[in-house]
Amino acid sequence: MNKINIKKDDLVVVLSGKDKGKQGKVLSVMPKDRKVIVEGVNIATRHVKPRKQGEEGGIVKKEAPLYACKVQRVCPKCNKPTRIGHKIEGDKKVRICKKCGAEI
Ligand SMILES: [Zn+2]
Repeated sequence: MNKINIKKDDLVVVLSGKDKGKQGKVLSVMPKDRKVIVEGVNIATRHVKPRKQGEEGGIVKKEAPLYACKVQRVCPKCNKPTRIGHKIEGDKKVRICKKCGAEI
């Protein structure tokens, strides 16, 4: 299996589903489930019941995890969805945009 090459704070675009085309920042990555949570994407609405008397119930909107294969990294330099390449620079490995070659 491929490793998820998406990291927290990456900008991604959704490739399929009801949020197709939406862009957002990755809030968290769950490598075990191969899922990511993206800001403003895949919002799930939950009705919350009041737990105590006098407490108000309500609707909570929260991002639900989605499969990492459904999102693609967006290059902050050329602003296009791109695949990530790797380049060795000195003794560190850097991630580069396969479209414009910028380090991202
Ligand atoms: Zn680029």
